[in-house]
Amino acid sequence: MISLCRWQAGGVQQRDLLVIGGGPAGAAAAIRAARAGVNVTVFEKGPHGRDKVCGDGLTPRAVAALDELDIDLAPAHRIDGLRMIAGKTTRELAWPSGTRFPDHGAVWPRKRFDTHLIDVAIEAGAEVRFECEALPTVEAGRVTGVAAGGDTYTAPLTILAAGAQGAAAKLLGAARDPDEPFGLAIRAYAETPRHAERHLEACLSLRDEHGTPVPGYGWMFPAGDGTVNIGVGALSTMKGFKKLNLNTLLEQYASIVREPWTLGPYLDKPRAWRLPMSCIKRHGPGWVAVGDAAGFVNPMNGEGIDYGLESGMLAVDCFLDNSATAAEQYDLLVGQRFDSFLRTGRRFSFLIGHPLLLRTGLRVAVGTQTTADITLAVMGNLVDSTTPGAAGRVLRLADRVLRIADPLLRRTRAAP
Ligand SMILES: Cc1cc2nc3c(=O)[nH]c(=O)nc-3n(C[C@H](O)[C@H](O)[C@H](O)COP(=O)(O)OP(=O)(O)OC[C@H]3O[C@@H](n4cnc5c(N)ncnc54)[C@H](O)[C@@H]3O)c2cc1C
Repeated sequence: MISLCRWQAGGVQQRDLLVIGGGPAGAAAAIRAARAGVNVTVFEKGPHGRDKVCGDGLTPRAVAALDELDIDLAPAHRIDGLRMIAGKTTRELAWPSGTRFPDHGAVWPRKRFDTHLIDVAIEAGAEVRFECEALPTVEAGRVTGVAAGGDTYTAPLTILAAGAQGAAAKLLGAARDPDEPFGLAIRAYAETPRHAERHLEACLSLRDEHGTPVPGYGWMFPAGDGTVNIGVGALSTMKGFKKLNLNTLLEQYASIVREPWTLGPYLDKPRAWRLPMSCIKRHGPGWVAVGDAAGFVNPMNGEGIDYGLESGMLAVDCFLDNSATAAEQYDLLVGQRFDSFLRTGRRFSFLIGHPLLLRTGLRVAVGTQTTADITLAVMGNLVDSTTPGAAGRVLRLADRVLRIADPLLRRTRAAP
């Protein structure tokens, strides 16, 4: 059921579950809950069909999460791998095979993707209130529900799926850890005759206007609809990050890809947004945070959609299991699934914040087809600590080495 938010005199409404935010994380939670017969309401401050600044790339891990939600990927553009570019080296890579994930990814522009997901939630029976900003209500240290549009809603559990930390997160203390890295990225759409290509393209050797290597990458993600999503992203661990001008960086990258992609003018103004990569508190009595609100963005590639889908589903599974212990149980399980990898990713981002280490790392990463394959598998979180083979070994080794090097890397981090 769809409804808009109208101010009305303060009634109290009861639900089983409340979700703040109707992006992929909130929609995944709502789909899971509604299909299990839970009386769930989602509050989305944007209108139905709102857009989200994103690269629109779905890795095989994200495709697996969408499969789990039984989402038909027919409207998306299938992607078979990644073209990795560093300096003069180009490697065309297929997604890793022999993992528990599918052999394909996708590009699905967020305006259509997010609308599709929230519509599936509505079809499943979730109530979605668009143009309705919600804030958690707290009584005696416990989140009892939300206040939205003049009404109060109560439920045993409220899921914070509000994206990169804003007012709702602030109220709950779900802030970014100031000692941890984060990302900023900008994107635009443009027409290209190469829109139907089946490889994502990532240029890992970005430099800012002063020639400083940028830990991050420029991307061309073909959408299969006549357009490509072009963007650049950077990690806060680089020297001069505060002064980094993303529009200028995008222009520099566009000047490299304009000719080979026969790129048309931007179809809209380039838009930038944050990539949160940490969160000091992701649960408490009566609430849990999922997706970007919990800082679940992969520091190695900026991917967040998959983590939003997975954590959204997991939060609801914990709720279905036992609403009284859901928040604690979720924190434990989501930590077991993501914490170690994301911690390694954050340490890695301090490493590549050092220009010399970044240059050396890139040389190794794309040096041979085999190391490039491993790089793709590790960066895409398409392996885990139990994965056999070279990629699994590299991840375990990186985990150990970075754990030891971390204090030094942080102490010698590039001045912000
Ligand atoms: C430029 C850029 C490129 C990226 N590229 C990729 C990529 O290619 N692939 C990938 O996987 N990830 C990418 N990401 C990351 C990805 O966009 C996010 O990780 C993802 O959107 C997280 O989903 P979410 O549901 O947690 O949050 P969001 O998608 O941000 O959704 C949160 C929703 O909550 C709503 N909301 C916020 N506050 C309230 C409130 N108080 N009340 C009601 N509603 C509220 C917002 O309007 C929003 O709709 C990129 C990010 C950026 C910035």
